[in-house]
Amino acid sequence: MDYDVVIVGAGPAGIFTALELIQKGSGQKIIMIEKGSAVEKRSCPKNKTGECMSCKPYCHITTGFSGAGAFSDGKLSLNYEVGGDLPMLIGEKKAQETIDYTDKIYLKFGADTHVEGLENSEEVKEIRKRAIHAGLKLVDCPIRHLGTEKAQELYYAIEQYLLQNGVEILFGYECTNLIINNSECRGVYVSKGAENKEIFGKRIVVATGRRGADWLDKLCIEHGIAHNPGTVDIGVRVEVRSEIMETVNRTLYESKLIGYPLPFRNKVRTFCQNPGGFVSQENYDNNLAVVNGHSYKDLKSDNTNLAILCSHNFNQPFNQPIEYAQKVGELTNMLGAGHILVQRYGDILNGKRTWQNELSRSNVKPTLPDAVAGDITAALPYRSMVNIINFIQAVDHVVPGFASEETLLYSPELKFYSNRVRMDKDFTTSVKGLYCLGDSSGWTRGLMMASAMGVLMGRRIFEETV
Ligand SMILES: Cc1cc2nc3c(=O)[nH]c(=O)nc-3n(C[C@H](O)[C@H](O)[C@H](O)COP(=O)(O)OP(=O)(O)OC[C@H]3O[C@@H](n4cnc5c(N)ncnc54)[C@H](O)[C@@H]3O)c2cc1C
Repeated sequence: MDYDVVIVGAGPAGIFTALELIQKGSGQKIIMIEKGSAVEKRSCPKNKTGECMSCKPYCHITTGFSGAGAFSDGKLSLNYEVGGDLPMLIGEKKAQETIDYTDKIYLKFGADTHVEGLENSEEVKEIRKRAIHAGLKLVDCPIRHLGTEKAQELYYAIEQYLLQNGVEILFGYECTNLIINNSECRGVYVSKGAENKEIFGKRIVVATGRRGADWLDKLCIEHGIAHNPGTVDIGVRVEVRSEIMETVNRTLYESKLIGYPLPFRNKVRTFCQNPGGFVSQENYDNNLAVVNGHSYKDLKSDNTNLAILCSHNFNQPFNQPIEYAQKVGELTNMLGAGHILVQRYGDILNGKRTWQNELSRSNVKPTLPDAVAGDITAALPYRSMVNIINFIQAVDHVVPGFASEETLLYSPELKFYSNRVRMDKDFTTSVKGLYCLGDSSGWTRGLMMASAMGVLMGRRIFEETV
């Protein structure tokens, strides 16, 4: 089978590559290979069972058309400073222009026209003033909030549009390897159960997301694709009563705070804030259970959750950041008997574990009921733990009550961005015919940035073919 463009992974990066090629009227014969299901067939059993069923062969939350985005909170960050390091590659101006362009496509497919966090009111100034006093940077980031259910509808509309415009989508097929001959990528090997086949194409675009980062890492080593070890983020998901976050939620929706707390001076940041949201669990293929959070447009909890992430980079002689973070996750899972661990902030400071019955004594009730109370300090590295504690204390100056005894810390919250594929500003990799983008390339880590990189990839391919 021969195609002009083979796209592996139907997450936002892959989808927007195909969309832009259609938009430009490229006439390219495009196939997408997606190991999960069509968006309308994706469903998480937890909605019925109330607990994570560790679905095999893959988790429906992160796999299938629209990738990790469809079931996510669907928050589009409209500022180039948020969502990854793509601006380092292409420049800040181009990154912002592409985000603005991509945002219009989201609007065309039904995204909410309302944007949160646009005002620079007295309240925002007050929040910034407090952040400055606490030694934190407040990043302005307007957010277009799709909401989990609405995001699915929107991606369904995109899926139908791609199909109607001649894009073939192979659902349930996993790409197992690349076909590389004489330093040129000519196709991919795919499999579905016992069925194996080869698909050939002039251009192979790998957009396999965070879940595909490990796999791509191995391929880089096997095929000599130039890459650098990237960053991993290790952290916790924090949950408080929404009353505590009221001002920040109302004024900014999402507070993007960055700090470099003593003594390590590592970058620590807030991420993915969900007012009225729910803490959730994701299971990776190797049975690793990690914590995340999302919010619905209509269904609201009494709590707000957000991640606090510490970036870890490694130099010689160690260069396996993904494996390092996985080990931290495995250790935490082991202590929680396979579940997410939760501990009260006050217990951490007092050097004691949290007991299950103590959770009901607080104002804040965990929105992840199958999380197990325990001791996250027994699993998290000292450096991460100290960073988190000191950062929480700084945030308390911006959001009084954030560092309360009852504040809940869930673990492990891990973000793998490893294996940054080496490429130039036009996304040329060291292997002819091979293009890498989105979260698996190590250059993005958010819906909008991955989508924008997809747009640019579509343009690059179009320009090469006219
Ligand atoms: C629970 C959750 C909530 C999130 N919330 C937000 C948010 O609110 N805002 C935000 O900006 N970001 C959010 N993110 C991150 C965001 O979803 C990702 O940054 C974005 O989806 C990355 O897009 P991508 O196309 O690079 O990869 P992905 O969306 O991960 O898509 C990759 C696709 O490739 C497929 N795939 C992987 N390997 C193979 C293979 N070997 N063969 C075939 N197919 C394969 C996968 O099934 C997947 O569908 C969230 C992520 C999660 C998990």
